[in-house]
Amino acid sequence: MSTALITGGAGFIGSNLADAVLADGRACHIVDDLSNGKRIRLPADAEFHELDIRRADDLVAVATAAKPSVIFHLAAQADVRRALDDPAFDADVNVIGTINVLEAARAVGARVVFASTGGAGYGEYPELPVPSPETSATRPLSHYGMSKMAGEGYCGLYGRLYGVPATVLRLGNVYGPRQDPHGEAGVVAIFCGKVLDGDRPRIFGDGLQTRDYVYVGDVVRAFLAAEAGEPGETVNIGTGTEITVLDLLEGLGYEGDPEFADARPGELQRSALDNAKAAALYGWRPETSLRDGLRLTYESVIAARQAPDARPPGAFATT
Ligand code: NAD
Repeated sequence: MSTALITGGAGFIGSNLADAVLADGRACHIVDDLSNGKRIRLPADAEFHELDIRRADDLVAVATAAKPSVIFHLAAQADVRRALDDPAFDADVNVIGTINVLEAARAVGARVVFASTGGAGYGEYPELPVPSPETSATRPLSHYGMSKMAGEGYCGLYGRLYGVPATVLRLGNVYGPRQDPHGEAGVVAIFCGKVLDGDRPRIFGDGLQTRDYVYVGDVVRAFLAAEAGEPGETVNIGTGTEITVLDLLEGLGYEGDPEFADARPGELQRSALDNAKAAALYGWRPETSLRDGLRLTYESVIAARQAPDARPPGAFATT
């Protein structure tokens, strides 16, 4: 069976993807610098390379030795606020790092599936339809969104220049087991912790801002479908449904009074992704309802607290 290399495989989505690859009986290499990833998330059966994707030559050396047929590129500086504080660092990891991954793919003849962003890429402007199709103009409102759009651009360039087969997945707000508070759907992890501790969750703004919350198990299926599909496409991976922050609390069974704080500047008011293209190309559809996904996430937070030294449970059976 073919070998997969996952950058960012010690992270939230990447470690779940690694479990699914291994469950298929395939070899799996993981590249991660552990800047946000955790060693405890790594599957025992994966080959781990502690490496910063900004080290171009070392990345090519790892890929040359591993001979992957696909590189799932998920390693990123994925914290929107950190990007605002240090835009050059964000671009270094997300743009230069992505170029290095594409160079490594080119060197070994691998295809690439790139984890991009939907909401942070499209931004928010009056003519933007919600849910947004892939044909919408991208007008990021954050450095993070901008660096991801640059990464998408380089995926296209490497296809045109060198024939590197690359697919871009624009993810919604991904939530589920192993997520941490810093990603685009970090609010779900934060709320799970608050509900468990009996604390009042804090809502920034009126709680009516919407996002497209998509379960990590469904997102992992999309990565595998994209690997098998025709390259050269840019595809939204979301539910197409707008979920408010207040809906999340209700879904978690919270019945108290949340605390309201001032809205944070630069936050989008509405975001959801049209997923018709993913359905047409891959037959992909989200299968996990918000209620089930939140329950699975909540249970995983409890399990991780009960056994802090064990590998935290993910969305897939592990080896
Ligand atoms: P994550 O932070 O859990 O995973 C990213 C991983 O990349 C971490 O393990 C981190 O240690 C690693 N990494 C960071 N910089 C690195 C570097 N220079 N070299 C090697 N490894 C490095 O984030 P996630 O939520 O799992 O996101 C995975 C990918 O999906 C990211 O590219 C992110 O931008 C994208 N994405 C996530 C969401 C979401 O809601 N979580 C939404 C849209 C897009």
